Amino acid sequence: MHTLLHAQSFGNGERLEMDIKQNSSRGLLPGLFLITLLYFSLGFVSILFGLLAVFCMATPFILLSRYKKKVWCSTYCPRASLLMQVGAKTRTRAIGHQFYDGTLKKAMLWYFGINLLFITGSSIQVAIGNMPSMEFIRLFIVIPLVPLPQLITPEAPPALLHLSYRLYSMMLSSTILGIVLSRIYRQRIWCAICPVGTVSNALLKRQR
Ligand code: SF4
Repeated sequence: MHTLLHAQSFGNGERLEMDIKQNSSRGLLPGLFLITLLYFSLGFVSILFGLLAVFCMATPFILLSRYKKKVWCSTYCPRASLLMQVGAKTRTRAIGHQFYDGTLKKAMLWYFGINLLFITGSSIQVAIGNMPSMEFIRLFIVIPLVPLPQLITPEAPPALLHLSYRLYSMMLSSTILGIVLSRIYRQRIWCAICPVGTVSNALLKRQR
């Protein structure tokens, strides 16, 4: 557990208690990281599996509304499990104030909001024939890569293929970022700025 996280709070006064708890693997079901690896592997079987990202994004909030606490973050998050596997087990460098003062939280929230807007808007544009589908990986919105080799040639409307690639790309980008941060700082430092965690905290706060 990172001692600095005890003493600090975000700019809006929100304590980092949940995030501190999340820096421990206690509570996370073992082996969940395999689900993350499976998700990215399935992309090579058929990119249509990329659509499972919707399930990953919705489930934390479904559990939150049912149990009134961050059950996903404390118990079921496959990404957190992966970060526990690959991240630095001891602090390797000081954690910058941007992680505490809300700067990075806001930046990530904007980034994901814009990303989701692009994904939705471009999928609609493809569906109505105003633009071609982009059937390739694109990291962090702006770095185009290649189409994934496909074990099963996907037969689906172009808009669905586009949406699948876009969601897969978003999941891949944020996972890469989380892993890089976990190597530079600590295993679950990503949880301090994760948009799902941020929105969950905001919803919980409103319920109290
Ligand atoms: S904050 Fe994000 S990455 Fe961390 S446990 Fe919650 S959903 Fe998973």
